Amino acid sequence: MSVLAPARGEAALAERWFAGLRAPSRVEDGRRLRIRFPGVPAPGYGPDARDAVIELDGAELCGDVELHLRASGWRAHGHHDDPAYARVVLHVVEENDGAALVTPHASGRAIPLAVAPPAAAPPLPGFSPPCAATAAHTSPAPALERLGLERLRAKASRAANWAAARGPAPVLYALALETLAGRRNREAFAEVARRLPLPALLDRAPAPGEARAAAFAAALHEAARDLPLVRHGGRPAASPERRLEALGGLAARLWPGPAPAWPEPLAGPGSIPRALRAPGIGAGAAVELAVNAVLPVALGARLWQEEATLERFRSLPAPAPYGQLRSLAGWLGAAGGDPLARAAALQGALQLHARHCSRGNCGACPLS
Ligand code: SF4
Repeated sequence: MSVLAPARGEAALAERWFAGLRAPSRVEDGRRLRIRFPGVPAPGYGPDARDAVIELDGAELCGDVELHLRASGWRAHGHHDDPAYARVVLHVVEENDGAALVTPHASGRAIPLAVAPPAAAPPLPGFSPPCAATAAHTSPAPALERLGLERLRAKASRAANWAAARGPAPVLYALALETLAGRRNREAFAEVARRLPLPALLDRAPAPGEARAAAFAAALHEAARDLPLVRHGGRPAASPERRLEALGGLAARLWPGPAPAWPEPLAGPGSIPRALRAPGIGAGAAVELAVNAVLPVALGARLWQEEATLERFRSLPAPAPYGQLRSLAGWLGAAGGDPLARAAALQGALQLHARHCSRGNCGACPLS
């Protein structure tokens, strides 16, 4: 049996925060503070907790939370002028070692500053939302799948309007760029799609073969040359440059000729993720592309029969779990099994998180 050493420093503060830290009743400038939802842990680069919900003097604020041992850690770590910290709504510290009553950010916002009580203070009972009790005796799978289908239909509706103006294949290409961009580079990659739409990309490339993939990748890099791409915090394989290269390879596979038509590999009933595999696009990314690009366009532009499209969605495995859903997956899976093993359920959980969890809206949640 392994025994985990107790967390120390900021890690211990984070543990206390997510376990229901008994927050001070007022922030440093005197406003009344109430924590409605501590947010979800956000590993990697950026604030410690995302999508928290707090009240200040009765006014609701939703956003991120940053935790430090001392208030001076904010500036020492360079957060004061880092855009990734512009959504922080609460800075929680164990000691306010400065004179300021709020934490300044370069965006002009004065972030409320709260001093956590000493670690010996009794914590609140662990946060256990109503869905944990529901999932203990009722499977959340049907509700998650229903929400996942709702989310897919919303994506399809957006794709339908777009495809009516441009045709399905150019929209598939633009959504593939958006998907591979990830959250931080979504706007920059959308600009790449505007600068270099699919017909223009196909005009740039030679005949099928390896040279075609390289020519596509070079054209995509050129279109992105002066755009502000975010590189820090991700895996090397997820860097914007590698993503553009991967899209060059995928485009060469899907469009071997000059016509910007719906790709042949996606025309039949075969596995969608298999048709989307290319160098730099692993199994998880292929499922992401299926969920966010192929199925929305196919459904929105009515390329396939609706029930067949939805069935293909239901049959997809989930890609790697998202950090923002880790707590929710734990609550829903407390009775055993992996509630987010299918892509449809994972999409449903994202819908649930956006509409309810991140708003502290347990009372109106379908799983409560
Ligand atoms: S909003 Fe619903 S799913 Fe989210 S934590 Fe509350 S009860 Fe659970």
